[in-house]
Order: sequence, then C-alpha cells, then structure tokens
Amino acid sequence: MEQRLEFSADLLKKYDQTGPRYTSYPTALQFDTNFEQQTYSEIAKQASANHPNRALSLYFHIPFCDTICYYCGCSKIVTRDHSRAAPYLEYLNKELQLQAPLFGKRKVTQLHWGGGTPTFLDNQQITELMEMTAAAFNLEQSDEREFSIEIDPRSVDKEKVSLLAKVGFNRLSMGVQDFDPAVQKAVNRIQSKEETLEIIEHARLSGFKSISVDLIYGLPKQNLASFGQTLDSIIDVRPDRVAVYNYAHMPHLFKTQRGIHEDELPSSDTKLKLLSLTIEKLTQAGYLYIGMDHFSLPEDELAIAQKQGTLHRNFQGYSTHAECDLIGLGLTSIGKVGNSYSQNKKDIEEYYAMLDQNQLTVFRGMKLTDDDILRRHIINELMCHSYISYSEVNDRYGIQFNQYFKDELTQLESFIEDGLLHLSDDSIQITPAGRMLTRNVAMVFDAYLKPKHLEISTNRYSRLI
Ligand code: SF4
Repeated sequence: MEQRLEFSADLLKKYDQTGPRYTSYPTALQFDTNFEQQTYSEIAKQASANHPNRALSLYFHIPFCDTICYYCGCSKIVTRDHSRAAPYLEYLNKELQLQAPLFGKRKVTQLHWGGGTPTFLDNQQITELMEMTAAAFNLEQSDEREFSIEIDPRSVDKEKVSLLAKVGFNRLSMGVQDFDPAVQKAVNRIQSKEETLEIIEHARLSGFKSISVDLIYGLPKQNLASFGQTLDSIIDVRPDRVAVYNYAHMPHLFKTQRGIHEDELPSSDTKLKLLSLTIEKLTQAGYLYIGMDHFSLPEDELAIAQKQGTLHRNFQGYSTHAECDLIGLGLTSIGKVGNSYSQNKKDIEEYYAMLDQNQLTVFRGMKLTDDDILRRHIINELMCHSYISYSEVNDRYGIQFNQYFKDELTQLESFIEDGLLHLSDDSIQITPAGRMLTRNVAMVFDAYLKPKHLEISTNRYSRLI
C-alpha cells in the first residue's frame, strides 16, 4: 500500500469529531455483563479444539504506579507501597492455573506486560512472573517471539533493563511524553532527558529488537519550540517506533485529569501545529506513518507488515500477529478468544475474591455476530491498509459488498469530494490526504454508531484533535 501521508489542517478541522480508536471492534462499550466465566471457558475450549495450532498471545496487566501522571486515562492503582505487588503476583499465578488448561499446549508467540507500570515489580518478581508463565504455558523460545513490556524510565536502571532482556523480553516501549521541565511539572511526571536516553541506549545494547517511544501532544504548557526539541532528541536516538498520542482532556471520565489546569492547555490551533511539526520532523527523519498515532522506521516489522498486507490492529495498537487468540490476565485486562471479547474484574478486591473461589474473573464481554465479524474485518483493513477490496470481502464472507453496504457507500460521498478516498468498482482506497482521517471512514462501517446505539457512545470517545 501507499505509505505516504499528506497533512491538511483544514481537513482535520473539518472532520474533527469524537470516535473510537478501534483497537477492537466492537469496542468495549458494547461488552455485556451477561457474558460470564462459563461462557468464556466454553468458547476458549472450543477455540482450542477447532484450532489447536493457532498461536496464543498473553496480556498481563500490572496496575500499580508509584505516582500519578495527571493526563493518564489508564486503569491503575497509585501507591508507593511496593509490598502490594507480592499478593498480586500470587493471584496472577492462580489465574494462570485456571486459564492455561483451557488452551492445551498451544504456543505463545506474543506476550505483553502493560499497566499501570509493569516495572513497579522488582527484579525478583519480574523473574518469578516470567517463570510462572513459562510453567503454565508453552512459550515460544525462538527469535520469532514478540515479548514486549511497557517501561517507565523513572523505575528502571540499566540492571533492570538487562534483566528484562534476560527473562525473554525483546521489545519495549517507554513513556516519554515531553522533555520540557515545565510540561513535566504541569502533568506531575518528572523524568530527566539524560536518564531516558541512556535507558534507550542500554536497551539497544541489551539486545532489544524493537524500541518504541510514546510522546503526547496537547499537554499543558506545551509549545512548538520545546516540543520540537523533544522530537529532535528522540529522533537522534532512532527508536524503531514512535507513537505520538493526542491528549484528550476528559476529566468527566478520568478523575486524574482534574489535576490539569485547563487554562494551560494549548488551543486546538496550537495542537494542529504541534501535530504538523511532529509529522514533518518524523517523516523528514525517515519514519513512515503506520496509522492513528504510530510511526516506524521502514525496516521495522510494522512497516514491513503494512507493506505486505499482514498488519493487524489489537488492544496494544498495531501488531504483526493477526490470528492469535489473546488471553487477558490481571485486573481489568481484555481478552479476544475465538469470536468473543471478555474482560476481567476492575476492582482488585473482587478480582482476588473470585480467584479465592477458584473462579475466573471475567465479568463482561460479548460473542460477535456474523455482522460484527464482517465489519471488524473491514475496519481492520481500513485502519491497517487504507484499502478494501470488495471481491476479497465477498469471497471471504459470501456477501455482495455493494448491496450489503449500500447505505455506507452513499455516506462516503463527502470523503470522496474532499479527496480523502477513491471508490472504484471493486475497492475503497484511502488517499495520502485521508490517512489521518481513517477512523472517520471506519466509523461509517461501525454498526454501533448508528442512531439506535448512539446514546451510549457520544461522550465516551476522544476527539480527533
Ligand atoms: S501514565 Fe503510566 S505511569 Fe503515569 S499514572 Fe498512568 S499508568 Fe501510571
């Protein structure tokens, strides 16, 4: 596919609206509490019986953080009491014992620790958790494995980074956000540039295959000059991937964000300029735009998978492992097994209590309908490859695209007029000018954004800018 990107502030302003990020379709807003552990267990056993050789992906949620970052919208528990990690690991082990038998000897090719702050765990706990996982599941040992961890540069030193590589991680992502001390103070996340860059260098020396850095634009006190310097410093150390997220100020949903002074937030015009500067600097430095907030070097697996048409979108963003069943472990974690989604309890006491009764902690989820599966494929194709072939969809799902999506095709007309996409007799192709607005196009195919569902979703999603 064409990986070029054209930036147009006018088009972004015109199409600025709230919408899902489509790390799943349907999104978690559609999950239902009628979906219980019993349903999950049956689906997991059936999926393993039907596809015994299909690879597995494991997601571990480590919810603890030492301090609070005001912009944060993640599910976390802020505590300085590190003794809370030990019982959490014991319960994770109980969960591993309940989950593993549902999946037989299927190989785990992808594993991710997210949070919260996974590096809240000390070195011994990190080793223990990986050992528990290896005892319960059949972990891929070869270089093909994609084992990643989110690290907080404030809670790691060189020794810890070396240990992470030793226990099997080969990819890491780290939050940087902005190196400007004034911005760091305004969001309550102080982390020195020198220490962060040193950790990146050391991760590379330790053998990490892929290093990803997260930045955020739209934070309080941000300005073009200092954010430009942050971008230059990051570009200098050439991480394989850079994610640049738009800060979505939604204090009605995330209490933590009430620590941010609204009068210090940049205007939407400044945000657009920050985004434009980001794109300019990263693309001039040789990074390719993958989609949504993600950029990568051309030799990175994400860029290669996109070129080859095998890129996939999942809860961690973009991935090269399309067909895995994903098992969510830990508080609030989300799984995708067979044609279902499921989510674990969000309250830590309830999570522990269910495991004390030897029960899985799934409390909601959904079984996808045929229509959900079809639309998920279309949204995935748009988000990953900016392209849909009607005949490919027709062959795969036994439909007539033109008929099935007659209304949706009509709704695409304004996008065509604005030069964001081309329609042919057999395809939808998003243009370089439309790539930053792909999720707007995807939303046309989202059945849950149709009027009868709208009341639950309108103020739950972030804006584009
Ligand atoms: S941004 Fe990360 S480290 Fe900060 S509060 Fe959120 S989860 Fe914790």
